[in-house]
This record gives sequence, structure tokens and C-alpha cells, in this order.
Amino acid sequence: MRTYIVGNWKLNFTVGEASIYLHKLLKKMPNYRDIEVVVAPSTIALQPLSLQIDRHKMKLSAQNAFYRDYGAFTGETSFTQLRGIVDYCIIGHSERRYIFSESDKVVSKKVAAAIRNKITPILCIGETESERAFGETKDVIKDQLIGGLSEIGDDDIDKIIVAYEPVWAISSTKSSKLAAPDEIADAVKLIREILSEVYGKKVAESVPVLFGGSVNPSNAGAYLTVPGVNGLLIGGSSLILSEFTDIIEIAKRVHA
Ligand code: PEP
Repeated sequence: MRTYIVGNWKLNFTVGEASIYLHKLLKKMPNYRDIEVVVAPSTIALQPLSLQIDRHKMKLSAQNAFYRDYGAFTGETSFTQLRGIVDYCIIGHSERRYIFSESDKVVSKKVAAAIRNKITPILCIGETESERAFGETKDVIKDQLIGGLSEIGDDDIDKIIVAYEPVWAISSTKSSKLAAPDEIADAVKLIREILSEVYGKKVAESVPVLFGGSVNPSNAGAYLTVPGVNGLLIGGSSLILSEFTDIIEIAKRVHA
């Protein structure tokens, strides 16, 4: 399986800044066939960057989209409109769940809309700090995974990517809040067990599972060697070109 390195730029970079970053990244980056590099700029930058990107080297992801294709939904952008522009879309990121109150029901409709429009959903799941403290980690992972995939049948399950992102480990500057490799291994094992129960063993082994949570060049190697982890979803460190390219190089070395 390929290794996925996904940079989530969140609400950062003007269109001009995003274009300059992409230009530099494309120049610096070799074409690694076994590493799928993906960047997720703001919606407004997606169309211009889609004309600039070299899809042999990397792909574009949206950070969010609406599940209805057209209609009276002021301010929204649909997966239909993004079709052909992006290859991936991050769905159910914790910032969308907790700042924008997205439920598992909404997440599941977005996952279905992405697949309907030939866009690969990167379904983010993960427990908050208090859920972990109350021993609810397993239930949260199960609910968010089964809930997020509730509209996806056997025919489409091979078109999704899951990202385990414990909310307490996102954007952390404290080493005490970094996820330990064995904590990630337990969560990824659970994710594959749930997938196996619902969709069968073969699917459970073939769905890519990424990890995200304060990944940077000094911990990327350790996270990429956690059993069952097929790549990384990176926020802060993906905004710094040298760090993002270092992580890509680490992925290449680990994959070899
Ligand atoms: C994220 O928001 O998906 C993320 C993993 O961010 P960071 O790498 O900054 O923790």
C-alpha cells in the first residue's frame, strides 16, 4: 500500500501565498510513486491551484464541502462543484465537528456525496481529552466510524481513507499531549476490527488508516512505523515548506 502524506493548510495562506508555496513544493519534490502527497488548501484556492499542480507529483484535497449537489444553500460549495478539481476531501475534521457542530449524520452524508462525485473522503475520527479521561475512547471511535460510514455499502468501502486524529493531540506544543505510538496502534487496531466486523477482513486490511496530531519531522518516523498506520495528516507542520518536505523524505525512507 502507498504511504499518504496529507497537509491540511486549514484557514491559512492567501491564494497568492498558496500558489507560491505550491510552486516551491513542486520544484523541491521528486516524483515518488509510492508516496501519495496531498495538500488541502482553502476552498478559494482550489481551482487556481488545480491548474498549477502536477498531478503526477501530488494531489489536491478540499477541507470540507456540502453534501447537496446544487440548490438554495447560500455560502456552500458542493462536491459536484469540486469534481475534477480535487481528488480528496477531508471530512469530519474535529474542527468541523466541534466549532461547526457537524454530527455523524452530516459527516455520513458528506462521505456519500464525496464518493458520488468521485472524490476520496478522508474521514477523520478521534476522541477528545475528556472522552479519553472518562474511558470513552473506544465508543467514540466506534460511533464516529460506523456513523460516518453509515451511507457507504460494500461496493464503496474501498474508496475511503480513515484518519485517526485524537483531538487532544492536535496542534499541541506540549510533549505530554503527543500521542504515544502504542496509543495510536491500539486505536488503529480497533478501527480495523470495526471495519472487519462490518465489511469483512479483506476490506479492514486494505483501507488506508492515517494518523494526525502534531506530526512534525522529529516524530513522523516513529508515527509512520506504528503497525497499521499508512500515512499522516499534518496541520501546522505542513505550512512550513522545509518541514513538510522533510516529512515526505522520511516517509520515502520508511516506505523503502
Ligand atoms: C489537523 O488539524 O488535522 C492536525 C493534525 O493538525 P496538527 O498537525 O497541527 O496537530
